[in-house]
Amino acid sequence: MRLYHLDLKIAMFRQDYLRDFFARLKIAGFDGVVIEIDNKLIFPSQPHFAAADALTADAWRDLVRYGKRLGLVIYPLLQTLGHMEHILRHEPYGCLAENVGNAYMLCPSKNESLRLVKDLVRDVFAAFDQPPVIHLGGDEVLGHLERRGLHLCPLCRTRDAGELVVGFLLELADFCLKLGCRPEFWADEILTYPRQFGRFPQETRFVDWYYRRTQATGDTIGHIWGALRLAGEPAGESAWANLPERLRVLLPDLVRDGRFNHFYGASAIARYGYQVVVGSALRSSGDHYALPRVSLSAGNVAVSDTVAREAGYDHLVTSWAVRLSHPETTWIALSDEALGPLSAEQRGWLDTVGHGLGGMDILAEQPMRFERPFHGGLDQALHVLANSPDRDAAVRLLQEREQAGGLLLPVLNENLEKGAGDSHCLRHWLLGTELAVLRARQTLALLGMYRSGIDRPALERLLEQNQALLQRFVRLWSESVTPESLDQECEIKFRRDIRLLENLLCR
Ligand SMILES: [Zn+2]
Repeated sequence: MRLYHLDLKIAMFRQDYLRDFFARLKIAGFDGVVIEIDNKLIFPSQPHFAAADALTADAWRDLVRYGKRLGLVIYPLLQTLGHMEHILRHEPYGCLAENVGNAYMLCPSKNESLRLVKDLVRDVFAAFDQPPVIHLGGDEVLGHLERRGLHLCPLCRTRDAGELVVGFLLELADFCLKLGCRPEFWADEILTYPRQFGRFPQETRFVDWYYRRTQATGDTIGHIWGALRLAGEPAGESAWANLPERLRVLLPDLVRDGRFNHFYGASAIARYGYQVVVGSALRSSGDHYALPRVSLSAGNVAVSDTVAREAGYDHLVTSWAVRLSHPETTWIALSDEALGPLSAEQRGWLDTVGHGLGGMDILAEQPMRFERPFHGGLDQALHVLANSPDRDAAVRLLQEREQAGGLLLPVLNENLEKGAGDSHCLRHWLLGTELAVLRARQTLALLGMYRSGIDRPALERLLEQNQALLQRFVRLWSESVTPESLDQECEIKFRRDIRLLENLLCR
């Protein structure tokens, strides 16, 4: 099965749009949709964290049945350990957090945590019309805590790390099987603690995800969960001697024909007798908020398609909502024709307009999602960059982006007028390119001003351009997202910048 990941972590889509989107996914060769429901279902047993534009269980059941009538398999994705901010930021759930005051992770040692997640599982099982599978998350837990400045709580610290996570997920897997559906998990934690593989029920599905692999094998070592420091080393005996002891059971999977196997996870999952799902991405970490990186995502999806087809695996094409570009912009990574005819040079421009800048248009998830009004440290990021040795490289990136966008816009406009390509994809690429160009132009101007002082006419022009583009953004996005989600998009992508410009113009 080729599955599409519909991530509702940020924007919620209109129901008429979702029906149309399902139909287009079917035509594009997808067999199913995995819906990351986040806070967009009013969970009947735990209604306290629902978003303002969340749907009832009845409304979701109608949508799921519509998709099923089209021939799609539809099942839900729930986060159950990490990535729990949408729940733990709300009362009465705060006390279940692993770290007090930080909503990232649920504490797996508390009995109430398991009870909460079982309630969620029961609710989605009903709302999704008794799906064949429930994806139970479980990614980016232990290895991720330190990177977020977190640690295990005293209840968890005294337990074995692998046992802690796997014990929690196993309870959920058994609970799913008793309901009558198969459990599915992200594979990164089990690949970090592979000796725990044998404990999962044989019906379990694991998703071997990694979004930067664009070839099946390589001369050098790629991404190994639990041994990231080996990346880039030649794939030979001397590197394998440094493989952590607990990962040595994966050596038969890590090496294929003397080369590093980028899909070693899939190979291990299959060898242990579980159903394999390969995970690729259309939008992933490092994208800016207007457009995805085309070459990377197209290459990642294509190699994953090939590996899945040859080995008989399922393939889950993810599309991460926290990257914020519109899902319609990602069709170009699925079909070369989505933007109409483009020369090799013009395709290169797609990549150049997709180069983002951290702090400007590549945003940290937490403030972007929860800080209101949203400032996201824009003023501070500009101040730091204007006086940093990285300034010249950033200026070059922005100049190239502005130039490539200027060249690309008439080409895309012409293709849209000719009726070539997919009009949804083209219209969102046109708007995304305009936003990318405006942010480049604005950042270049502001970097100058943070060194040599205010240029009022330039600020006034930028303010007008922001307000004009905002109007067009509202018109296009209101076709697909709910009013509440549209307001959030405007806050993140426009009002933050408009507030800064107004602040600088204020006498
Ligand atoms: Zn804990």
